[in-house]
Amino acid sequence: MRLGLFGGTFNPIHFGHLRAAVEVRDAFNLDRLLLIPSAHPPHKRADHVANAEDRLEMVRLAIQGEPSLEASDLELARPGPSYTIETLQYFQTQFDRESDIHFIVGQDAFSEITTWKSYQALFVTAHFIVMARPGAKLRSLEDFIHTQISEAYQYDSTSDRYSHPQWCTIFCLNITHLDISATKIRELIRQGRSIRFLVPDVVRDFIDKKGLYR
Ligand code: ATP
Repeated sequence: MRLGLFGGTFNPIHFGHLRAAVEVRDAFNLDRLLLIPSAHPPHKRADHVANAEDRLEMVRLAIQGEPSLEASDLELARPGPSYTIETLQYFQTQFDRESDIHFIVGQDAFSEITTWKSYQALFVTAHFIVMARPGAKLRSLEDFIHTQISEAYQYDSTSDRYSHPQWCTIFCLNITHLDISATKIRELIRQGRSIRFLVPDVVRDFIDKKGLYR
């Protein structure tokens, strides 16, 4: 089983997240790709975050009918801040040793990983897929990995991955970068402007119906 875990606030989910998920699923032949909204994101201001059930429902609506994509309520069921290390350890116990667990993260979030709880343990628990912006400086990623994670990571340019003698692999993938952020979407809503073509219509209808982000 090849499993992908894509964590985020998804406040709300948008086409940037969705296109990224589809490209990672296809590039890594993932059998399942779970989108996992963080119930209590440790790094985001709570007053800007819609309630977790609504964010999960928007994820569900957005991926309806898309093969291998699933919405996960795992972090909603857990009290306290949503720490990725706990999520990865949970999935490690759920799947057999033959399963490959991949944690999917954008380069922007990856560059802040040293602020995450037990961040070095993450790299012992799951492979990483870092979604790079096309043209982003590879060298800076290499420096970051060596100085902040482990010097033992070796870059292989033919497969665009960093391998470690004991730890999991960090894969890099260039994806189509859609310059869409949830912050921008929330701002447009506050200003009473259209968010059409930034999010699926079903998500826009849900936001309208519930009066979110006004
Ligand atoms: P906000 O603007 O509220 O900070 P966001 O749009 O950046 O939110 P998050 O839910 O914080 O979305 O991001 C979840 C994950 O999705 C992160 O790993 C982030 O790097 C990635 N991501 C966010 N926007 C995009 C995008 N446009 N294309 C590809 N990946 C993205």
